[in-house]
Amino acid sequence: MTPGERSRMRQLPERGSHNPDAVHFVLDAGFLAHVGFTVSSQTFVIPMLYCRDGDTLYLHGAATSRIMQRLGTGIAACVAVTLVDGLVLARSAFHHSVNYRSVVAFGTARVLTEPGRKTRALRDISEHLIAGRWDEVRGPSRAELELTSVLEFSIEEASAKIRSGPPLDDEADYGRSVWAGVVPLRLEAKAPEADSGVQAEVGVPQYLLRLPWSKSS
Ligand SMILES: Cc1cc2nc3c(=O)[nH]c(=O)nc-3n(C[C@H](O)[C@H](O)[C@H](O)COP(=O)(O)OP(=O)(O)OC[C@H]3O[C@@H](n4cnc5c(N)ncnc54)[C@H](O)[C@@H]3O)c2cc1C
Repeated sequence: MTPGERSRMRQLPERGSHNPDAVHFVLDAGFLAHVGFTVSSQTFVIPMLYCRDGDTLYLHGAATSRIMQRLGTGIAACVAVTLVDGLVLARSAFHHSVNYRSVVAFGTARVLTEPGRKTRALRDISEHLIAGRWDEVRGPSRAELELTSVLEFSIEEASAKIRSGPPLDDEADYGRSVWAGVVPLRLEAKAPEADSGVQAEVGVPQYLLRLPWSKSS
């Protein structure tokens, strides 16, 4: 992962970093990416699940989907991951902001064809989202594996940007009689809702109660 022209931050570069640790930190905290790519002058941005291993992201989808087919040819792609931590309310409209952690990564993908590697990547995506689930459910059949495409996205360059803390107002506005501060936001797992067909003896698995973004965290 080498910083380059695509990831050089011009706006508020002091909030950003090209340090791989910072990039990995944000990527590991998220599970939802927006993947951008261009076909015939039209840019598409598609939300997808992912997991990370080193400077590689794994993505999966229907083998027939446009994104899997196009990215699999090795065209340039851009992956954005965003975690919103709070609304920042300033004393002026201009200085309102958001507390966040985000990554923008550039690179290319290739299709994983070897069934063992494909299955491992699918397992890793699943475990990144719900650790403990994979070993409990039926794994993909050969036919299901064929219907699924798995991409290995190599990050060539990436930037992380983080904003935290209170609003930053103009000195002259601090005396104004208006509320200012931060409304913290976070993604939260609520109590699991069992499907109506779940066998009577099956309780809520422990791993659902310790999701990283569940209420208890
Ligand atoms: C939840 C959220 C909401 C936002 N809302 C707004 C908004 O409404 N208006 C607004 O102007 N800005 C907003 N931002 C900031 C925005 O993401 C950009 O950082 C900013 O607009 C600068 O864009 P630019 O293309 O001019 O940046 P440049 O500095 O020209 O971008 C150059 C490179 O810097 C890197 N980069 C830029 N932004 C980010 C980022 N957020 N995370 C990681 N790398 C980045 C990329 O590699 C990019 O290619 C928001 C950010 C987040 C996370």
